[in-house]
Amino acid sequence: MKWMISIVPLIACTLLFAAGKSPGASVNKHANGSFPDSINSEPTLASFTFASSSLYKSSYSLKELELVISENKKSQFLLGQSQEGRNLYAYYIPGSSNLRALVIAGVHGSELSSVEVAYHLLTQLLQGKQPYYSVIIIPSLFPDNAVKAINEPEHIGSVDNIGRYTDPDAVDPNRQMPSPGKAFDENKSLDHAGREIEKENQLLLQLIQVFKPQRIANLHAIRDMNYGGIYADPRTDHNGLASGYSSDSSLAVKMASYIHQQGGNVTGNNLHKKPTALYYKDPAPAPAGSLQKRNMTGTTLNLKRGSGVSLGTWASTAIANEKDPSKNREAMRILTIEYPGYKRPLDYKTEAQQLLQQKQTELFAAAIETIFLGQYFTENETINIAKK
Ligand SMILES: [Zn+2]
Repeated sequence: MKWMISIVPLIACTLLFAAGKSPGASVNKHANGSFPDSINSEPTLASFTFASSSLYKSSYSLKELELVISENKKSQFLLGQSQEGRNLYAYYIPGSSNLRALVIAGVHGSELSSVEVAYHLLTQLLQGKQPYYSVIIIPSLFPDNAVKAINEPEHIGSVDNIGRYTDPDAVDPNRQMPSPGKAFDENKSLDHAGREIEKENQLLLQLIQVFKPQRIANLHAIRDMNYGGIYADPRTDHNGLASGYSSDSSLAVKMASYIHQQGGNVTGNNLHKKPTALYYKDPAPAPAGSLQKRNMTGTTLNLKRGSGVSLGTWASTAIANEKDPSKNREAMRILTIEYPGYKRPLDYKTEAQQLLQQKQTELFAAAIETIFLGQYFTENETINIAKK
């Protein structure tokens, strides 16, 4: 197998929300010129805040993920290509423990603020101190759809939802997962309803099955700012029997408290009255050992395009009895992070709004870096020990 690594210093680039003051940067949605070639080929990246001092840019692809992990260096690697042929990159940051986390954003391309948070987190991790968890970050899972949203700046955050779905007949990208309790079969690539899973989600599922993270942060955004917050899906065994919610809930609420204490908006976590990690549309967590109800409909769309199994449900359900036993796994801890509002800081009109949103972006990223990737409610303490 042929592979190599080169060190590519990425030039600190487009702090776009402050583009007017930043020499060399441009507000142009196709800003480029500051990036190495490989970065230019990822159009969405050029529109987001992203800066790093040094990064190992590898020629690894998803197929060589095990090499990325064994090298254990900060790396950029190629997951594959999007449906329109854009390079879909992921980033590996080694942690100080053998526990693994995955952070994804942009499942809904319309939710640009979530992609901005992911790039900010990536920048911090490339420059900052080592996290406890080794982490893979996919900042923009559906780059084609994010570009559609970026190209209609007047509509960002509107009910037009430009970039949410790949096309008018496509299933909601967050409702395309395999049956709960079943592994992803890359030879068939079908979701719970028997529909073909979109290519970007296929790449995500393959990554999860190879990397086997203990925890996932799935970054979304929500139009109604009163529902922004950090939410946890209840974990179950492969039959859907609840494993107990308290440590998942505590992790989500701790992250929300971190954001709130520094002035961020996590209204959906109801921290003032009764702190919760339950998303308002989801069924209540069942007591350990009893059947967990699941929400199988996101939004009401024709032809049930808004229905199906979400990443939250699939990931938080254990997998057992697979023909290939390497595909069996524990339930993963998965948090769905809803950033309040779809717009990135630069999409707001006034400087005051931009600064407020920039601070909020930084707080959401810091909560992930400090709490989610830190040594809090770790799985070897709260899950494996509970099993003994
Ligand atoms: Zn979303």
